[in-house]
Amino acid sequence: MSQDPTKRILILGGGFAGLDTALHLEKIFAKDKDVEITLVNKNNYFVYTPMLAEVVASSIDAKHTVSSLREFFNKVTFKELEVRSIDLTKRIVNCYHCNVCEIFNLEYDYLVIALGTVTSFHNTAGAEDNSFPLKNVYDAKILRSHVIDMFEHADLEKDPNERRHLLTFVVVGGGYTGVEVAAELNDYIHTSSRFYRNVHPDEVKVIIADHGPRIMREMSEGLADYAQNLLQARGMEIHLKTGVSSVLPNKVELDNGVTILTNTVIWAAGTSPHPVIKSLPCEKDKGGGIIVNEYLEVPDFPGVWALGDCAHIPDPKTGNPCPPTGQHAVREAKRVAYNIEATVKGGDKKPFQYTTQGMLAPLGHRSAVAEIKGFKFSGFFAWFLWRTIYLIKLPGWDRKIRVAIDWALDLFFPRDIVQLRVPTRSRQQEEHIGTEESYS
Ligand SMILES: Cc1cc2nc3c(=O)[nH]c(=O)nc-3n(C[C@H](O)[C@H](O)[C@H](O)COP(=O)(O)OP(=O)(O)OC[C@H]3O[C@@H](n4cnc5c(N)ncnc54)[C@H](O)[C@@H]3O)c2cc1C
Repeated sequence: MSQDPTKRILILGGGFAGLDTALHLEKIFAKDKDVEITLVNKNNYFVYTPMLAEVVASSIDAKHTVSSLREFFNKVTFKELEVRSIDLTKRIVNCYHCNVCEIFNLEYDYLVIALGTVTSFHNTAGAEDNSFPLKNVYDAKILRSHVIDMFEHADLEKDPNERRHLLTFVVVGGGYTGVEVAAELNDYIHTSSRFYRNVHPDEVKVIIADHGPRIMREMSEGLADYAQNLLQARGMEIHLKTGVSSVLPNKVELDNGVTILTNTVIWAAGTSPHPVIKSLPCEKDKGGGIIVNEYLEVPDFPGVWALGDCAHIPDPKTGNPCPPTGQHAVREAKRVAYNIEATVKGGDKKPFQYTTQGMLAPLGHRSAVAEIKGFKFSGFFAWFLWRTIYLIKLPGWDRKIRVAIDWALDLFFPRDIVQLRVPTRSRQQEEHIGTEESYS
């Protein structure tokens, strides 16, 4: 601990978990001049991930799903830095902004780790190089641009088999993220194909491949079956109990021996811990998540908390880890902030406990499935619930209004098929550069 009476709280990550922790701490310590709170994130914005599938499908403008992290705070200091390493013993976080800047070594008294996860390709041959992840707004923009590009190519192609190849889109992973993106994409491409005179709607296909026995295992079986039947009735193919053996630039090979010719494989099949977390000397679960105690503290490292997708948080009711969702991350954030206050000011910490309130997943064509506090809904009403709840939860009034306008326009006008070419930097380069500054 520093000898200075000022207490330095450092939060790493400005996603659901980090941003909400900062917002709670800002309120808690609003009048405490001897408490400094710093939030570090590699981009200067927060991404509202539940709306990324709609960015791919052009029903929301990409910029409307992100909010500047600077606009949220009065007391908290925001720094646009990428974390490179954390020294839990010396209490120093090593960060950088870009290759021409100095290296920043940030000291802390209290540390909150909320760095989320990265896409895991499970060592599938070629997947990392040849598939499209969907973790952030940059991924969504690249994928949208690529899909439109496939249509433009197909429109010029005379061979119908080659057109089918170009217009086959494979989503790997049938969890809610995979289903959401597949459903939105299916809607988008079928409504947009009419603008391409040389493309026949029958030539367009969206396929989901999942190794499990059913899609959307996060939902109850009845709703998952409803979703599957609906998507199949709309022409989607769903391959269950099917893994992916390899992804090549022009095809994907499934482990049942089937080969699908496609230039578009969307990877929604899992995540792994952030590389910075892998090297920490604390205890981790088999997936690499930081194991925390009931107060969300990292054992053996006093003053260090971890939450959100990068943490393994035991659910006291089931003993299983809490699921990696935004709704859990924001509740964990509130508890972390409370426990930091108890630690700084002296008081009793409280254990984290939260039961999932519900799950909602849009299925395209103004339909969705929803399960809220045990009540199940499907179809238009569930879609209406999805839009209302997620619009309310979207941070910032300006963003809410912009998204509401996007949705209103979507009711009356065709989806946007303008392709503003997005530089398709490889993800490794993007990781290295760390910011997403170069798209329009
Ligand atoms: C497409 C999609 C749809 C989803 N839909 C839903 C949904 O409908 N409902 C729901 O509850 N959940 C949903 N989720 C899950 C939800 O987004 C996550 O559970 C949630 O984002 C976890 O919050 P987090 O703060 O732990 O991680 P994140 O939100 O991922 O935040 C991590 C932050 O750390 C930053 N960061 C990463 N590395 C560094 C570094 N080295 N240095 C500095 N900063 C760094 C990132 O830029 C990011 O801002 C969805 C996820 C995706 C990808």
